[in-house]
Amino acid sequence: MQRETGEPSLSERQQRNFMSALAALAVLMQTATSMHLHTQPEQLARALQADLGLGFAVLLLVLTRVQAIRLGTLQKLVVGAVATWLLLNVISVFRTARPITSGLLIHMVLLALFAYTWLPARAAALIVTPAYLLLAAGATFSRAPDLPGLLLTGLVLPLTWYLTVHGRIVSGERARSVELAALAATDPLTGCLNRRSGHSQLLALADTWAAQPERLSVALCDIDHFKRVNDTWGHEQGDEALARVAQTLRAQVRAGDLVVRWGGEEFLLVLADLRPAEASTVLERTLRGVRALELAPALGVTLSAGHATLAEAPDITALLRLADQRLFAAKAAGRDQLCSGPEAPGDTGAATRA
Ligand code: GH3
Ligand code: MG
Ligand code: MG
Repeated sequence: MQRETGEPSLSERQQRNFMSALAALAVLMQTATSMHLHTQPEQLARALQADLGLGFAVLLLVLTRVQAIRLGTLQKLVVGAVATWLLLNVISVFRTARPITSGLLIHMVLLALFAYTWLPARAAALIVTPAYLLLAAGATFSRAPDLPGLLLTGLVLPLTWYLTVHGRIVSGERARSVELAALAATDPLTGCLNRRSGHSQLLALADTWAAQPERLSVALCDIDHFKRVNDTWGHEQGDEALARVAQTLRAQVRAGDLVVRWGGEEFLLVLADLRPAEASTVLERTLRGVRALELAPALGVTLSAGHATLAEAPDITALLRLADQRLFAAKAAGRDQLCSGPEAPGDTGAATRA
């Protein structure tokens, strides 16, 4: 199976789901807060504020599900909403001299977290710093300013900046190394797995199918008279032909099969979880696909292929040698054909034209 080299970072869909979950949590929390405050008549102003917060959270939840709104826009919306909400709270401190509560301080930290995670560092700092200064100014009006809490929050903000920026760098590097790993495993001309990566994936598959070795097939495929293509049409057209043949191979085999550029004009196909006869059928179809390729007016190519299953060989080296011998037999029998082992029905080890 063509292996995944790993997920570079959270996909857009995962990030959107995460935001929906956050918004749903905010809806729950605001509902509980609002219900609690509505039971206390003297807290009516705060209860109404909580209702507004609930409305905000519901709106956000709905927006996260609207696929037409881009993720970046949603993230800016969240930062904007959290900043606005904090601003309204600080204004209420100025107006009513209410205490600086732990909720307010956590709100400040949340704003910093969202802003530094989702906005460019400079834009985030331009929101977080004035927000904190405003909160500190509000505290001078408050009847319970919670100075230690305020100072501690001030200390946490640069830490938030450091951790989020560091996290971004780490995930950027991770994405880059996943890209590099994919590049290192791929042949640049054909987009197939290169020989090193194909070989190591074949070894892994041999382990997986050790108990049912007849269900792991390999086929060495070689383009017939390819030198003539280069000689007649030029090297550039030869390259184009190689890329198109590779494309056809990938189109003809199943999604999980391996297509490896084994050497110049030679490819290795690895088909797992198929009986030998079924693998032969796929390979014959593949040869027909290549034969039907129209590369340029009057330019076509054919493939010869040698097919073997792991059941016929004690190890990978012997398996590849056997496939190579059968490829040679297919060439010797006139090219443009598949040579399979005796396990594939309708074939007794001789080459057959697909
Ligand atoms: P046969 O049917 O016996 O396989 O004949 P052939 O001409 O295909 O085999 P031969 O080994 O004589 O020649 C292979 C040719 O493949 C020679 C080489 O120039 C060409 N080739 C190998 N890699 C590339 C490549 O990346 N691009 C191009 N354009 N040609 C390549
Ligand atoms: Mg050849
Ligand atoms: Mg060759």
